[in-house]
Formats: sequence, structure tokens, C-alpha cells
Amino acid sequence: MANPSVISGFIDCPQCGLPAQKDEYYVAEEERVLCDYCGYTHTQTRDNKATSKGYGSAHYVRANETENGSKLETEIIRFNTPLDLSARNEVLQKIYDDCDQHRSSVFVWTDEHGLEALHGATPKTLNEQCEEEMQYFKDEFDTLHEEHYSED
Ligand SMILES: [Zn+2]
Repeated sequence: MANPSVISGFIDCPQCGLPAQKDEYYVAEEERVLCDYCGYTHTQTRDNKATSKGYGSAHYVRANETENGSKLETEIIRFNTPLDLSARNEVLQKIYDDCDQHRSSVFVWTDEHGLEALHGATPKTLNEQCEEEMQYFKDEFDTLHEEHYSED
């Protein structure tokens, strides 16, 4: 059951622009923003405000969880320090060894290049998702329209 004292939604992440989860605890007057891509976190309470930059994230989807038909669980690790080469290799190795390579992904954030996918595809922003949906409905509409008017 949803907790009625929390409002959750998605906003454009202030750091990378991808969808980040925002939870508002309006009784306690707190809010929290968590980005699962660049790792940005922001917490605001009545008397404290803390923002920390992220350096990317790993989305690990275990390769061996499908056997009993259970849902694949994604373990999301947000990096709060920059990853050096050996740390990057370690993360990638974990994916090759333990994870479903097609579903897992790794993102790194650098000031020079922004968000980059080390493994997997770069996710879409809310805007891009919206545009894609609009295009989908437009195509559907055009198809229906054509079908309707080509009957006679
Ligand atoms: Zn972000």
C-alpha cells in the first residue's frame, strides 16, 4: 500500500537530465532526489540541505535469478567517487561474471563528457521518452486514418 505521507515522482535530474526519483515527505517537510544514472543525491530537511554529486552507477541484474521464474531484481549501486580504470574494470568484470549482460548496465559521469555508458545503452530523458510516445501515437493515428479512408 502506498504511504500517503510521501509523494513520489520523476524529475529531470539536475546533474545529468535523465529521470531521477523525487520523494516528498510533506508531513516532515523533507524531500529527497535520487538519480539512478549519474548517482546524484539531494536531501532537504527542515534545517539541513545536502547535495552530492554522483559519478555514475551500476545496474546489476543477476544472471541466475530467472530459474525459479522469479522476477529479475536490479541492484543499483551509485558511485559517489570517480571511478579509476581499475574500479571500472572491476565493475565490468562483475557484470561479465555474475550478471545478465543484456540487462545490466554501467554509467560513469565525468565533467568532461557528462554521462557515458560503459556497458549497455544510454537511457533516455523524460523529454525524449515523451517525444517517442507522441511519435508512436502519431504513427498509430496515421495508420488508422489511412486504413479508414482506403476502404472505399
Ligand atoms: Zn542524474
